[in-house]
Amino acid sequence: MSTPIADIVRFLEAMAPLAWQESYDNAGLLTGNGLWECTGVLTTLDATEEVVMEAVACRANLIVAHHPIVFGGLKKITGRNYVERTIIAAIKRDIAIYAIHTNLDNVVAGGVNGRIAQKLGISGGKPLMSREGTLQKLYCFVPVDHLEAVRAAVFAAGAGHIGAYSECSYSVEGTGTFTGGEGTQPFVGQPGRRHHEKEGRLEVVVPAHLSREVVRAMIAAHPYEEVAYDLVPLANTHPGVGSGLIGELAVEMGEKEFLDRIRQAFGVPVIRHTRLTGRPVKKVAVCGGAGSFLISKALSAGANFYITSDVKYHEFFDANDQMVIADIGHFESEQFTVDLLFEVLREKFRNFAVLKSVVKTNPINYYY
Ligand SMILES: [Zn+2]
Repeated sequence: MSTPIADIVRFLEAMAPLAWQESYDNAGLLTGNGLWECTGVLTTLDATEEVVMEAVACRANLIVAHHPIVFGGLKKITGRNYVERTIIAAIKRDIAIYAIHTNLDNVVAGGVNGRIAQKLGISGGKPLMSREGTLQKLYCFVPVDHLEAVRAAVFAAGAGHIGAYSECSYSVEGTGTFTGGEGTQPFVGQPGRRHHEKEGRLEVVVPAHLSREVVRAMIAAHPYEEVAYDLVPLANTHPGVGSGLIGELAVEMGEKEFLDRIRQAFGVPVIRHTRLTGRPVKKVAVCGGAGSFLISKALSAGANFYITSDVKYHEFFDANDQMVIADIGHFESEQFTVDLLFEVLREKFRNFAVLKSVVKTNPINYYY
């Protein structure tokens, strides 16, 4: 049995939809072709030229990387810098590069930050900053005999999830009216004559990125020639989608003890951190990768500790002795993402090898 690369892309995008990436990002298939048969997958944080050569050596024609090697446009491809050289190497050797970046950061439980939380014993994770525009509400009007079929169809297309609950919907019966114009073939009633029909109004919450599929499924299961429905954006946010994560330790601990736990879990030689506050650690916020943009969110959420990376000198002052900011390094903070991608792909696909890159792509070294 062969698996086209498009199947792997579809699987990854069901887990971390491209619609959940940040506006500056460039997640998705960057080189290669979805029609190619996958010969093997190599997971990595960074797709560099060295990683492309590693993929060639282990006969994997798909690299699944966290960071997109290309963010903006490439105007010249001459091999002048590492980005161009990586792209040239990948194209020459028929290697597909797929990036799953801020869309995976924004998946709270099963994403980058969920994995960090798991490693540190943090449970009950919620996003530090919810992502807006992720939910819509579908209202549709269905003759009562067809209500259950339409309900089942929209559920099957991905509607009706609220937190850990699925198949959530609401319906109420009422009366719909319509008059078919010239050339219509109404399901019930006569064209040109006002018809009253017992209808149910079905309400269901829809992830915004699936709204097209849900509406298509609703129309396919609906008997009317012209289906009446409303699709409305919601101010509610998806509880499982957003930046960063905040949760709690099972048992509170001292700040130094917690720093030791971080050092051990991430295998880091050094942690840059703000002055300790002397208070016990219970509430912990995390953001893999560059997370300065969430310092104020971590503070207002009452975090005792905020673990992230790429914090600048002046940003450390923002901790204001209210919490401890711990900068553990960008690569270090995201290292478990490679395991996460490796595990989900190996679990799902059995007919090709899934491998973890052994290339240390971290450009930062420590001398101590
Ligand atoms: Zn990163």
